[in-house]
This record gives sequence, C-alpha cells and structure tokens, in this order.
Amino acid sequence: MSARKYRPNAIDLQRLFDRMLSAYGPQHWWPAESDYEMIIGAILTQNTAWRNVETALTQLKSAHIWSWDEVFEAQIETLAEVVRPSGYFNQKARKIKLFSEFLDREFGRSTDDLFQLPIDNLRKVLLAQWGIGPETADDIILYAAKKPVFVIDKYTQRLTSRLGWEIKPANYEGHRASFESLLPHDAKMFGEYHALIDHHCNTTCQKTPKCAECPIVDICNTGAATISSPESATHPVA
Ligand code: SF4
Repeated sequence: MSARKYRPNAIDLQRLFDRMLSAYGPQHWWPAESDYEMIIGAILTQNTAWRNVETALTQLKSAHIWSWDEVFEAQIETLAEVVRPSGYFNQKARKIKLFSEFLDREFGRSTDDLFQLPIDNLRKVLLAQWGIGPETADDIILYAAKKPVFVIDKYTQRLTSRLGWEIKPANYEGHRASFESLLPHDAKMFGEYHALIDHHCNTTCQKTPKCAECPIVDICNTGAATISSPESATHPVA
C-alpha cells in the first residue's frame, strides 16, 4: 500500500532538485544558439520527440529559413514541407508563420522589445497567439526571455503524483503556482529543474518506472511501495 499523499514544502522541492542534479548533472537546456531557434524548437516539440524536432531544425537551417525575416518571407507550403519531420506539420508551419507575422506587426520582427515586457504581460501576449499554450509560452519566457517561470509538462505532473505530493489544483497552473511559491525565483535554477525532471522521466520514471535503479527512490512514495511489492514494478503506474 502506498504512503499517504502530503503537501510538499520548500525543503521537499529543494531536495528533489539537489538529488536529481547530483544524480544526472547539469542538462544544459535549452539546446539552441538563438532566441529564434529556441522559439521555433518550442513550437515544433509540441506532441513529438525531440529527435524529430532536431531533424526539422536542421532542414530549416538548410532551407535558409533561419530568422524571423526568412520565416516571414517563406511560403507556408514550403515551411510545412521543411518542418514535416516534427509531425502535425501543417499546423506547426501555420503557428510559426503566424508568430512571425505577430512579431512583424507588433515588434519589428525582433523579440528584443517583446522580452522587455513584465512576466505577466509577456505571458498574456504569448498566450494570445494561435498555437501557443501555457507550456510553450512558459518555455519561451524561461529559456528565451530568461525570466523565472516554472515550466510544467506531463512529466512534472506524473513525477509529483508518484512522489506522493498533493498539489491542488492538480493541473498546470496548480503545479506552476506550487513550484513558484516554494522556490527562489531564479530563472537558471528553474530551467535546470525542468530539464532534470524531463531527463529523469525520460530515462527512469518512465510510464513503467524503473524504481529499482532510481536515484531518488528513498524520497518517493511509489518507489517505497514498489520496492516492498516488486511485482508492481513491471506494470505502468499513475
Ligand atoms: S522511485 Fe519509481 S516512481 Fe519514484 S521517482 Fe523513481 S522511478 Fe519514479
């Protein structure tokens, strides 16, 4: 039987970060050389694996669609063909194109002034763009604008649930509010924390978790239950 859920405090959140950092080391996110590459990558990574995004980014570079000016000038059909490896390519081409049109209309095809906006305004402006949801907006604010918002994804929610953390409401905004209220507002740390969670869930806390080899098993409710009942380790858990 798993232990009761509990509301995490600042010590729990800091400990999880310290333990993952010590186990996996710095993740060097976001893997991009410019704001342009970061934002395009954040849109392309929606609903697909990162390796597919890398292929699409390489193709964009080869096709000389490697700046907001070049996206703005490109035909949407061409753009769709080039980003095809990332899946949902017609939608994603439209999102990228519309974002370039928004930057052209409001910010002179540059993110410099956009990123001067205070976090709350910046978030509102990004969320008002078609195809930019909370996770993509927060990725952009954190990794391109370098402002401290905590990015939540399905991995974060899976991990907090398995750890036994009770987060209310148990949705995107509830998680974001919890992390942001219990940690120092440090964009570098938030970026590293999100990257470590993704790495941990990609490699260890997968759909069927590898609790026996998990470096944080001693602070995890599900891990404790799995170790005391080993047959459950072969089945997916919540
Ligand atoms: S002990 Fe298992 S469930 Fe808990 S974090 Fe590790 S892999 Fe995930």
